[in-house]
Amino acid sequence: MSMYLQFQDYIVPWYYLAAIDQYERNIQDVRKDIPKRDSTVAIQFSKEYWAGAMNPVPDDTSPFTIKYFGGLGLDGNGDGLASADDDEDVLFTMSNYLSKFGPSEEDFKIALWEYYQSEMVVKQILSIAKMYKHFNSIDLDTHVFPVPVRGYNYSYRGTWGANRGWGGRRIHEGTDIFAGYSTPVVSTSYGIIEVMGWNEFGGWRVGIRDNHNTYHYYAHLAYFNKGLKVGDIVEPGTLLGGVGSTGYGKEGTSGKFPPHLHYGMYKFNGRTEWAFDPYPSLVQWEKYSKQLLKKK
Ligand SMILES: [Zn+2]
Repeated sequence: MSMYLQFQDYIVPWYYLAAIDQYERNIQDVRKDIPKRDSTVAIQFSKEYWAGAMNPVPDDTSPFTIKYFGGLGLDGNGDGLASADDDEDVLFTMSNYLSKFGPSEEDFKIALWEYYQSEMVVKQILSIAKMYKHFNSIDLDTHVFPVPVRGYNYSYRGTWGANRGWGGRRIHEGTDIFAGYSTPVVSTSYGIIEVMGWNEFGGWRVGIRDNHNTYHYYAHLAYFNKGLKVGDIVEPGTLLGGVGSTGYGKEGTSGKFPPHLHYGMYKFNGRTEWAFDPYPSLVQWEKYSKQLLKKK
């Protein structure tokens, strides 16, 4: 965080730099075709962007020739070199790139669009920036279990990939947590509400995106927390609604199966989004939630 603060200015706040950096870290964690940047800062300029597309020296570190060839690379720490391997040079260069677009959020959006050329990527980075700004922190990695671990009965098991009956041949993408009607359902993570409403499969469902490019999906709810709406920021433990049996039909359909929370997790890798098994995470978070209770 101190590094981001060092390179923020009146146009580019620290949480913009931090959000881009976190986004790139997330992508490098899940993509095999991009090299992991082996440093504190994850932002990785392409050689074309850094040195200039026409530069005959793709690894150029001379601020003068880089500038001559229209590259973005700058010397951020005053050592006379503009090095894409140097964290300070990278953050300074990104801050400088962003500041050219102007101070508003709209300007930031345009800067991101020009750089990444993807609506989904822009959305993801804006979400992370919003969270960092709101909590004034980059430490948003705590997770809890989605239903209370004490005071309510629940059960779940790993059923990843099982067949399910309704709506054609689809595999089960998530974990079902069986519990009584109206058992509270809480957010497992920090995040922003991306979707809230009816879906013919999921019934009343909420979708939340966190700072790790992960989308958390809570389905078949009996009711919503009426204090929440799309765009709101949540934290681990924020009440989302109650366990129900809605879904598998038109709006309001309920009772076609026993009440349970269907919990799904989806990862975005910069190009596509795919479901992965939430069961191992749930086991871990359940443990953590029980430890929290013991401490109280
Ligand atoms: Zn399910």
